[in-house]
Amino acid sequence: MMAQIFFGELSSEEVDKISSQEALILIPIGSIEQHGHHLPLATDSIISQEVTRLIAERINNEFPVLVFPQIPFGKSTEHASKPGTISLETEVLTNLLRNICKNLVKNGFKKIVFINGHGGNTNLLNTMLREIREETGAFITSIYLYSETFLKETLDRFKLEELDVFHACTLETSFMMTLKPELVHMEKASKEKPHKFTEESGYKYLKLTGSKGIEFSWLIDDVSDSGVIGDPTKATAELGQEVLESLVEKICEVLREIKKV
Ligand SMILES: [Zn+2]
Repeated sequence: MMAQIFFGELSSEEVDKISSQEALILIPIGSIEQHGHHLPLATDSIISQEVTRLIAERINNEFPVLVFPQIPFGKSTEHASKPGTISLETEVLTNLLRNICKNLVKNGFKKIVFINGHGGNTNLLNTMLREIREETGAFITSIYLYSETFLKETLDRFKLEELDVFHACTLETSFMMTLKPELVHMEKASKEKPHKFTEESGYKYLKLTGSKGIEFSWLIDDVSDSGVIGDPTKATAELGQEVLESLVEKICEVLREIKKV
């Protein structure tokens, strides 16, 4: 029988036993926000939950890991103008995550890993990591699914441009076609290139794809009418499956390093 990997499905006694084996806690975090006309609001949450499950299933025979109940909401200020977006305020989200971590530490867990499916959560998570460590002694890591570390190879291999892979884009749509095809409405998918904040539109530093050390407050209405940034029409379930496989493997490598710390 496969070891139980979901925190919430264990009994009090079982959790106690696993915490004493120095299990890593994996916390999927996503968002509820507009994802164009063709993807559901919970896209980031669905992807982070499923990726976390796959990682846990793969690595659990090496050392114990537990998938904590997902944080479905995130920081989605950039999409707040579109219907359906539910964005938590910085203080609320920070306090929520901090409280969860403190409770976990009280229960004996010393390593906590956030598996983050939404770019808007990244800065907030990064700010919190050290604060929580200093406060509790726990080692906290945040892993962003679409970080350059994981994405570079995919872009090269599938000949995708940086702007094909941004929001409700080729990659997110492909992941959803693999994980929850019944929620993808390809007949409503359309490509949208950002109107602003690209080299083509005359911006050298204020770029959506980022300039190291320069952050600016872009909002979805600056750059997109449909809510899409990128090209979902290139998405396929095969691409989703292949990238998912390498992503899961790479994140397992990261977890092995965290285990070593
Ligand atoms: Zn998304």
